[in-house]
Amino acid sequence: MCKVYTPYAHAKSIFEIEIDFYKKHGIKTVLSDLDNTLDSYKTKTPSANVVSFKQLLEENGIELFIISNNTGKRVQEYANALGVRYASAVGKPFARKLIRKLKEAQIDLKTAVMIGDQTVTDIASANRARILCILTDKIVKEDQPTTHFNRLFDRPIRRHLKRKGKLIDWRER
Ligand SMILES: [Mg+2]
Repeated sequence: MCKVYTPYAHAKSIFEIEIDFYKKHGIKTVLSDLDNTLDSYKTKTPSANVVSFKQLLEENGIELFIISNNTGKRVQEYANALGVRYASAVGKPFARKLIRKLKEAQIDLKTAVMIGDQTVTDIASANRARILCILTDKIVKEDQPTTHFNRLFDRPIRRHLKRKGKLIDWRER
């Protein structure tokens, strides 16, 4: 039951993962969730942390690509300000739309890694699409209202994975 929610690795935050990890796994695209993975859902423009993260990836030939369930202007404005491509309203936890949008963007799933703060959406969709995935902790306390419901499932799943030793630090991968 928990297999679909089990990430390949865990990181406290997307920003602590070193370039060597991506190189070791042949990663060319980092597919990142937006809200509470890169920035708070309240943040309209990318924080300095995110800007330097994107630059570091770029210097190493890796594309940052935002994957969000959020619709409308939020994702578009944020991604444009950061200067990255994105896919919004991808319908996580499912994979069908996600796979289609990544195909349209000509992204090779085999050389991509998905990074996000929720087991029930980010990790589940990545596993269903057979994309390598990393679970992070959320970067700020507050979630947007629609996420509160997901957390009811996310919290016990995390506890379970931790107990079973299935949250493996990225440094051990
Ligand atoms: Mg999120």
